Amino acid sequence: MEFNVFEYFKGFQRAANGPMTPQAQGSALFLGGHLGEQLTPHVDAYAARAGLSRRNFLGTASGFAAAMLAVNKVTGMKFFDVSEAEALEPAAAHELNVARKTATSFIVDQHTHICIRKDGYIPGVNTTEKGMWFVQLLDDLGKAMGLPNGTKDMTVENFGKLILEGSDTSIAIFNPFGFREDYGGKDMVPIEEQAEVKQRWPERTVMLGGGLTPNQGLSETKERLHTFVQQYKIAGLKLYTFDSTPKRGWWFDDQKLAYPIWEECRKLGIKNVGVHKGIPFGQFMARYAHPEDLDAVADDFLDLNFIAFHSAWPYQGELAALKGFKPQRKNLYSEVGSTFAATVTNRPLECAHVLGTLLRDLGTDYVMWGTDSALWGNPQWQIDAFRKFRIPDQLVDGHGYPQLTDEVKAKVFGLNAARLWNLKTMAQIPEDKPRVVAV
Ligand SMILES: [Zn+2]
Repeated sequence: MEFNVFEYFKGFQRAANGPMTPQAQGSALFLGGHLGEQLTPHVDAYAARAGLSRRNFLGTASGFAAAMLAVNKVTGMKFFDVSEAEALEPAAAHELNVARKTATSFIVDQHTHICIRKDGYIPGVNTTEKGMWFVQLLDDLGKAMGLPNGTKDMTVENFGKLILEGSDTSIAIFNPFGFREDYGGKDMVPIEEQAEVKQRWPERTVMLGGGLTPNQGLSETKERLHTFVQQYKIAGLKLYTFDSTPKRGWWFDDQKLAYPIWEECRKLGIKNVGVHKGIPFGQFMARYAHPEDLDAVADDFLDLNFIAFHSAWPYQGELAALKGFKPQRKNLYSEVGSTFAATVTNRPLECAHVLGTLLRDLGTDYVMWGTDSALWGNPQWQIDAFRKFRIPDQLVDGHGYPQLTDEVKAKVFGLNAARLWNLKTMAQIPEDKPRVVAV
């Protein structure tokens, strides 16, 4: 997430209460969102029937189900495949969650982070005022999601606890933060610290390199790319087209500044290049968050794949048009980190339109799961919400969106990423072998 949780969820309380269950995390966002006031009486009725306080009830699987059921009731549209029994009975909720898990068990989280640096982020010493804006955003989000110390809890250790052990995630692809001009000349998360994640869980993580912008000098950028590939064995890139240099940004289709980087990727065997698009946060310029530069570069580098992180939300229509009108395109992907979390809870109709547009125009083989955790703490509530989420029939009929069937969810959750990153899925791995292997 890269926007202020307390501004976006107006009803959210600015109190860090320490560890929360994943269900409490998700429920809190539903009730803090703009539907919150309408949802509350419904949720309270279920809490009363369960004999629990609202707070305690919302931390259970039934409480989370009740919040989603309330969305269906309040909007008169079926956004969630959730039953009355689940909202009433923890045992029923558990049973149904297990059944849903079987249908969609292989989960690749395309978008995960640690956010810590051993020397910390100290204003005026190694962090500029603008650099602190971003740290503050992430601190607030972490605290809201049950990490009492914000970014200081987004550690390598917690990455394992929250994402790899604490959720149904099979494989986590971890993403870098650069912006070194704002952080004392060193990347916000330096690659050597990030590499600790790969060392700890080599079979369950995929490491992306980043913090590269040609505005820091093209030859230096190419040199760093070499180091990332040769010394740190990165699997791909996640870059930002807005940056903290005086030029403020660049474009992937810049033939002088960017194409030499893609040529270098070709030589080094890097096939997948991701880019933050949409969510124009904090100190950065919104214009560089538009995805239009992916058009030419995707045509000019057919042997590379380009991944628009956050699905360019709120510019997802621009992204979708790059394939909707050019169906021949096979190397343009999207990822839903933060976009799903922020819309499903606060603007479910928008969530259905965003996912529907991506699935219809980019295609069901090109949309990938991501949660932007551990910025959002434990990602399990997002997994549960996506397992239950559906595109209401009115929208399927009126917009030609595909249904979000279990088959489509399985592709989005893991199969598309498995193909892109050459991962073996659980189904292909024999019983006696490690269940998940990242190649
Ligand atoms: Zn992110």
